Order: sequence, then structure tokens, then C-alpha cells
Amino acid sequence: MKRVGRVIVPLVLSVLLAPLGSPSLRAQELRVRRQVRIPDIPGYQTLKCDFHIHTVFSDGSVWPNVRAEEAWREGLDAIAITDHIEYQPHADDLPTKHNRAFEIAKPHGDQLGLIVIRGSEVTRAMPPGHLNAVFLTSSEPLDTVEWRDSLEAARKQGAFIFWNHPGWTGQQPDGVARWYPEHGALVDRDQLHGIEVINARSYYPEAHRWALEKDLAILGNSDIHAPLNLDYDARDGDHRPTTLVFAKDDSPEAIREALFARRTAAYSGNLLIGKEEFLRPIFEASIEVLTPAVTAKQGGQAWVQIRNDSDVRYELNGGGSVEGVSAPEDVVLSANRTSLVAIGVDEVTEPGVVRVELPYTVDNLLLEPGTGLPYELVLEVEVVPAEE
Ligand SMILES: [Zn+2]
Ligand SMILES: [Zn+2]
Repeated sequence: MKRVGRVIVPLVLSVLLAPLGSPSLRAQELRVRRQVRIPDIPGYQTLKCDFHIHTVFSDGSVWPNVRAEEAWREGLDAIAITDHIEYQPHADDLPTKHNRAFEIAKPHGDQLGLIVIRGSEVTRAMPPGHLNAVFLTSSEPLDTVEWRDSLEAARKQGAFIFWNHPGWTGQQPDGVARWYPEHGALVDRDQLHGIEVINARSYYPEAHRWALEKDLAILGNSDIHAPLNLDYDARDGDHRPTTLVFAKDDSPEAIREALFARRTAAYSGNLLIGKEEFLRPIFEASIEVLTPAVTAKQGGQAWVQIRNDSDVRYELNGGGSVEGVSAPEDVVLSANRTSLVAIGVDEVTEPGVVRVELPYTVDNLLLEPGTGLPYELVLEVEVVPAEE
């Protein structure tokens, strides 16, 4: 009987444990950081940031330290906690403490090497609507009767101030952003430095236009209220909208300097929005034409290999026929893949080497509303006689 007992006990244990695997390793596997692959550009690091995040300390449903962990796992470099000053729907359960969310999130960010920035959302009727102030030294002085006093208090602290969701249907019923004289006055008083061209899943072309016309930093932020994974399938290629900051290093001060210098772009879904001086080097550092010289028969085809070493799927439109060499109208360069692009040679093209520049536009790299980044695919095609 004793012998049977010894056999049965380990058997029972192994049967119980087998389907579970190793619980501690599984927990460890969940606590990983994704690497966001968007290249640096000459002279600057490309930092991935979200400057608009809510917690339970206003109308969010997440405790602040979780915000730091979510962002770290998603591969972000910096976040700002920006709870509403004026809108405190949890006040019966949590006392109004405008600095508390930052104070809770920051130590967890420090442990992970994630930058956490102190911010607040000034939440007023339109105009001026909602504005975030980030890089505050204290949020308390922003709790004023008059919104002008609130923004002046932020300016005095050296904060970077931007207009949130300018076309939000809560304040613009038709979803069209409108610029009010009050916003012009804010720019004149050094109280408006940036604008959300992207907020959550919305893109505001009017805001994009103003960013260019009025020299405001282009921002794309999540404005997240729920746990990240309720709104974004971050484990399956989806990501929250982020602001790319082109910073001299990865310090808070370098981020602040880059924001005031307007060295930013918005990144949402597969879309990048920004000036050509930032988007072109990102594109050029992402892709490489592996076979810039190809051989094709008259009336035949050749395959050009283009590698894309980034997380952005580039969508090109253009092509056509140049000097007897034709390229497809639509070209997709899948993220982190090498794509084959078919090049055709007309039957009547003379044998010999021809150098062609095939004009494309990268539609998802948006320089201004409706205008993508121009790009020329340069190839050397050796045309050989059809009978060989
Ligand atoms: Zn808001
Ligand atoms: Zn908000």
C-alpha cells in the first residue's frame, strides 16, 4: 500500500500542474515592453509620447501607477498625466487633489525608466474649450474662476500649453474645428503652443492646417479614460495615438525643448502627420531598395525588393510609365517586411541600361491635409532583347 501511495501522489501532482505550465514564467511573460520601431532622424531621437491621459483623479477609471505600466509595456518613452481641473465626477469618493495622480504615477515610471510629466486639463466651454498644460510645477494654481487666470498660471510655470480635440462633437456639434479670436489671443500671450491634430481615433484636418499656419506643435494623443486594452488592442498590432518628439536626448528637459521648438509629429494607426523635415528622414531611414539595379527582357518583368524596417506600413501611389519602364500605381511596403514590386518593360524599349525615376506619393505620411510625402523610386533597369 505504501508503494502505491508514493506513486499516486507525484502522479496526481503532475496531472494538476501540467495544464497550468509554470505560473511564475507566464506572469513574467506578460510584463514585457514592446519595441516601437520608428527610426531616429539625423541629430534627434524619435521619442514616443502620450501627453493626454486621465485617471480616477478626474473622470478616468484607472489608478495612476497603472498608466505608467501600460505606457511602458506599449513601448512609450514619456507620458503626461492630465486630469481635468474643473471636472471632478469622482469627488464623492476621492478628494479633489490636482497633483495626486502625477505623484502616484511618477515613482512607478521612475522604476521602469518611463518619463512621467505633470500636467492638467483646463476644461472650459468653447471658446477656448479644453487645453492641456504639461511640464507644470504644480497643478493647484490652475484651479481658478476665470480660464484666463488658469492659463496665465500655467504660462508662469513655463508650461507647454496645447488645445485638445478642437473638433470634438461635444463642443463642435458638426465635428468641424473652429478657430475663435480667443485662440489668437492665447497665441499672442504665449499661452498656446500646440494643437491636437489627432485625439483618440479622430483626425482634425482644420487643426492640421492651423498648426502649419500658426506655427503650433502637431500633437497626437490618446485622451484615454479606460484601461488601455479596452480601447486599443495593443497586443495585436494596434496602438494608441502618440506624439513623436524629435529630442536631442531622452530626458524630460529635451522633450520640453523639442515641444517648444515644434519638433513633433502625430502617429495614429498607420498615419504619420508632420512636416517634411521630419517625415522624409523617417521614411528614408525605414526603407531600403535592396535591388536598385534589375534586368528585364523587352516586354518582360523584373522584381524589385524593398525592405521596410519600421512598424509603419507605407502606402505609395503613383508609378506609371517612364522611358519604357512601368511601375504599379499602388505599392504597399508592409511593416518589418521586404516587398516585391513588379517592374515592366515595354516591348519596344531599346536594349541597354536605362535609369528611371518613378514618381510616388506616400499617402500615409501627411505633410498637410490631403497631401502625402513625394518620393522618387530610382532604378537602373538593364533591358535585354526579348529573344535572348
Ligand atoms: Zn477634453
Ligand atoms: Zn481629456
